[in-house]
Order: sequence, then C-alpha cells, then structure tokens
Amino acid sequence: MNQACDLAIIGAGPAGMAAALTAANRGVNVVVLDEQPEPGGQIYRGIERVERTRARHLEWLGPDYAAGANFVRAFRNAKIEYLDGAQVWQIEAPANDASPGRLFYKRNGAVGQLSPRRVLIATGAMERPMPIPGWTLPGVLTCGAGQTVFKANGLAPQGRFVLAGCGPLLLLYAAQLVRAGVKPAAILETTFNHGAALPHAWKFFTTPEYWRKGLALLRELKAAGVPLRKNVTQLVLHGDARVREIEYQCGGKTTREPVDQVFLHQGVVPNGNLAWSMNLAHAWDDAQRSFRPRLDEWGRSSTPGIFVAGDAGGIVGAKGAHATGRLAALAIAADLGKITIEGRDQQARTPRAELAKHQAARPFLDALYRPAPHWLAPQEADTMVCRCEEIRAGEIRRLVTEQLCPGPNQMKSFARCGMGPCQGRLCGLTVVELIAQCRGVPVPEVGYYRIRPPVKPVTMGDLATLDVPVRPDAVGL
Ligand SMILES: Cc1cc2nc3c(=O)[nH]c(=O)nc-3n(C[C@H](O)[C@H](O)[C@H](O)COP(=O)(O)OP(=O)(O)OC[C@H]3O[C@@H](n4cnc5c(N)ncnc54)[C@H](O)[C@@H]3O)c2cc1C
Repeated sequence: MNQACDLAIIGAGPAGMAAALTAANRGVNVVVLDEQPEPGGQIYRGIERVERTRARHLEWLGPDYAAGANFVRAFRNAKIEYLDGAQVWQIEAPANDASPGRLFYKRNGAVGQLSPRRVLIATGAMERPMPIPGWTLPGVLTCGAGQTVFKANGLAPQGRFVLAGCGPLLLLYAAQLVRAGVKPAAILETTFNHGAALPHAWKFFTTPEYWRKGLALLRELKAAGVPLRKNVTQLVLHGDARVREIEYQCGGKTTREPVDQVFLHQGVVPNGNLAWSMNLAHAWDDAQRSFRPRLDEWGRSSTPGIFVAGDAGGIVGAKGAHATGRLAALAIAADLGKITIEGRDQQARTPRAELAKHQAARPFLDALYRPAPHWLAPQEADTMVCRCEEIRAGEIRRLVTEQLCPGPNQMKSFARCGMGPCQGRLCGLTVVELIAQCRGVPVPEVGYYRIRPPVKPVTMGDLATLDVPVRPDAVGL
C-alpha cells in the first residue's frame, strides 16, 4: 500500500510528538512512525506500560520521566496516525509539491510505503561508543542499554556492578537504580573538565533547572554511599566468557577488583544514519565532538522538504527537542499553506524562547563532559572498534600509517569496517577520530562514512513485495 500524507515524522520522542501535535492542530495530515512498540522516545520509553503495570517505578525513574505520561496521552488522543513498531529504512525527498517523496518502512513483518509532502527526521540520539579494552565482553553494557531494560521491563543489574565514563545519564541511571534499592559498587568518572567548563559557567547558572538537578543527583548518590571516583584513567575490563574484573588508575593508584557487570557511558550524539543516507549536508560540531546536519532556524535541512528536529539535529536535551519539534512543525504548516508566515512567526515566539533557555545550558555541559582524545580513539591495538566486522584499533592505525588509507570510506574497502548490520552506527565516530589522530588532521578533513539506504536490514523478499515502478536504468535496460 502506498499512502499519501502531508507530513511523515520519523520518531515518537519529545521532538516527533511535539511536532506531530503542533502540525495536527493546524490541520496538517500527519503520520508518525517509530520502531518502538510505544510512543515516548528514549526519555519516556515505556511510560504507558510503567504507569499501567508498575506505577511505583515512576517514583524511581523520577519526575522528568513521569512528566511524559500526560504528553504521551495528548499524543495518543490527537488526530495523528501513529505507526508503532515501524522501522524506516529509506526516504527519498519530495521533488516538489506536485511530486511527493517516498518513505519505506517495515512493520509487523511487512513492508509499507508513504508518499509524504514533507518529512521530519526526529530520530533522536544514541550513546557515543566508549571503546576500552574488554568493552565487548558479555556483562558489559552501556548505561543507556541498562536504563532501557529498566524502563521497558523493570530489570535492574544483579551482583557487583560499576558505572564508568562521564555525562549526566551516568549519574541519572545510578540514581534511578539507588531509588530502586540497587546500589552500584562505584561510579568511575573518566572526564570532568572544570577548567574548560568554567568560561561557560555564568550562562549555565542562568538555567537553575539544570544545575539544581545535577547537584541533587550528586547529593542523592553521596547520601546513598555510592563511591564516586574522579579522574579515572587506564580503564581495562578483564574476563573470559564474561567480564570478571575491572582495573583502573585513580589518584596515582592502580585498582583491580571483581565485578559482575559494567555499564559504560560517555555522552550522546545524534542518531544520524537516516539523515546521512539522504545526503543532507552536515557540519562538524567540535563542542559536541560529532557531526550534525546543517539546519536553519526552523530545522530545514539542505534538501528541500526535509526537516530535522530534536537530538538528531545536534544534542539539545528533551525539552530543547520538544521546542525544535514545534518550530519545525510551524514551518511545515506554513509551507503547506495551513498557517500564514505571520502566524508562524508569532506562534514561534514561545518555543524559540524555550529553546534558547535550554541551549544556554549546553556549552557548559558539553565542555564539562567532553571526553579526552584517548577515550575517543583507543590507544591499545587490541581494542575492538567495529564490533560487526571485528576490526581492532591497531588494524585501523596500521592501514592509515602503512597503506595510507585516508578516510572512513576507504577503510570500508580495506577492511570492511562499518559494513556490518549496524552500518557504522556504533563505530563511525571512533573510526574517524582514529584516522584523524593518525593523520594529524582535524576530523572534518577525514569526513564520515557515506551511508546508503537501507539503513535498517531488509530482505530481498521484503523488496520484492514493494509496489514500486522499476526504473529501466536501475535494471540496465
Ligand atoms: C539510551 C538513551 C537514554 C536516554 N535517557 C534519557 C533520560 O532518561 N532522561 C533524559 O533527560 N534524557 C535521556 N536521553 C537523552 C534523550 O534522548 C533526549 O534528550 C530526548 O529523548 C531527545 O528527544 P528526541 O525526540 O530528539 O529523540 P528520542 O527521544 O531519542 O526519540 C527518537 C525516536 O526515533 C525512533 N527512531 C530512530 N530511528 C528510527 C527509524 N529508522 N525508524 C523508526 N523509528 C526510529 C526511536 O525509536 C525513538 O523512539 C537518553 C538518550 C539515550 C541515547
């Protein structure tokens, strides 16, 4: 089936839901697709089920999480077509208003197709990889993965476990577990750049919501007796069939202790494969140490008809994502003639002010938790970088220095690096940091993987069921 709509939104997180509500309220015919079984995105993951079946967990997960319940209810009750469990694997941009774009997705084992006049990519963030020796051992997860199973299934770690890395999510996950009566053996903080963050402190202090929340988390963890070790270096995970020990240096002392599980985290970066696959122009964001799509003040990308909102356009946090979703929806509603340009500008005042407030906190947080170069590009030759194709740091360095491999796309030809099922999502930033370090050039000079659709696995059988006219040139006729 090929369904026409005004606007297709990929992602039902704060950005996607806010955009859908704003657009639908202005008469735009909206379809929202999300691969998750329920709306909410990363922050409000599973909120409906938690509210229904585990209400006590709302307290453990905290007020920011619980606030998602009303938001998701409003989304459900609005005139929005929501396709849950729909994995979007390819988007073609609309040529013009008379010729809409094409969007392909997989849902309930079948493929589907939309013809939207506008597309909003609101695919959110993913965790930045933290490639240290032993990070691929069973029993080692990211904090985000740990939090995902906690939110979605109510499962908490068992045995002796440690959280290591940096960033607000590390502290938040630890506090959520403490509230549930599960105490980490320690938090090992690898990055805390007071000096670099200091010049941004005055602006950060204009956002009390953020610093109060940060201080409250630290106080909560201290009161619970969770040891917080700062400036940890030389982090190594040892094990055989699973992780058994964690080794690290702190205050000039080397510690090696038993562990059953380890949770790693060093911030979040845009989840960009869909945006990259459409060839949207990207820029390097040095403060966030990641690429982000080039967008105007409405979230309009370099490709006509394609907008990006939320963390997918550069990390702005949940409330910032909400504001960018509303702004993009207003621009789309005006583009489609549902509101006037004057109406758009007038209605944009509130979300624009909201966004500015949340953006004010970013420079401080970005500088405070910016990982040092050795956490971004592993120094140990044996450390795994591309988990799908099992390519290690030493091999990547060797290919750059001995074979003069200049960038990530050539690295694909040399070593199949980034060509596995995740299509470079997990290794992309590590590979470009490693190549840039070896070549002694900035990351933007190295570039990023050329991502091609499908961005999610599809079978030949799926493709064969599509009702798509075949272009003669595509089959060599
Ligand atoms: C693992 C993780 C946990 C986090 N937990 C918290 C937290 O507890 N508190 C907090 O303040 N911040 C948290 N964050 C940060 C948080 O993501 C945001 O600030 C906020 O959720 C961003 O909103 P968003 O709408 O931009 O994206 P998201 O909320 O991430 O929503 C994006 C949605 O897009 C969907 N999607 C992505 N690709 C596709 C595709 N190809 N097809 C279909 N659907 C797709 C995803 O399933 C997801 O639901 C977390 C981030 C991560 C990575």
